[in-house]
Amino acid sequence: MKRGFYIGRFQPYHNGHQSVLEHIAGKVDEIIIGIGSAQLSHQVDNPFTAGERVLMITRALASLECPFYVIPIEDIQRNALWVAHVRSMAPPFETCYSSNPLVIQLFRESGIKVQSPALYERETLSGTEIRRRMLAGEPWEELVPQPVVRVLKEIKGKERLLQIARND
Ligand code: NAD
Repeated sequence: MKRGFYIGRFQPYHNGHQSVLEHIAGKVDEIIIGIGSAQLSHQVDNPFTAGERVLMITRALASLECPFYVIPIEDIQRNALWVAHVRSMAPPFETCYSSNPLVIQLFRESGIKVQSPALYERETLSGTEIRRRMLAGEPWEELVPQPVVRVLKEIKGKERLLQIARND
């Protein structure tokens, strides 16, 4: 059984993440998706809770032809111990898929194979750009899968972001 691990903050989950996961689905038997910084929410850079991110990912991947697990993972203060922390929370896996330089470095130092999938349209497909567009009142819906648009509307994600970004 080949399992691959993919971690992100998914603030929010977007079409770049979706393309990477569709690619990984062709390479492994099962995928473990770690929701990083699970403890963070209601911040301008991290507006959505771990549970809301679970919802976005689970709905967006409903028709993926590869079993997957979504596991929230809180940050810890010691990078040197982080991979052991991740492994204590996730089903066993042999390959980590990431393009985040720190994640790549920590997994490599722990002796775990790392693959770096290509970045898709990085200029626009980024959580930073999507949050910027929401705050600026610009169209953001085309950058995320349709089920994620529905989750964000259901939880009033844009309204939350606008409210927490206000000065008092
Ligand atoms: P992210 O949501 O920005 O990205 C997730 C993955 O998707 C990354 O590999 C990224 O390169 C990729 N990606 C982003 N845009 C893409 C695009 N357009 N096309 C293709 N791929 C794209 O999340 P992240 O910042 O990489 O998440 C890492 C998580 O690991 C964070 O939550 C971080 O806090 C956590 N972490 C924690 C510790 C610790 O607790 N000590 C240490 C290291 C990492």
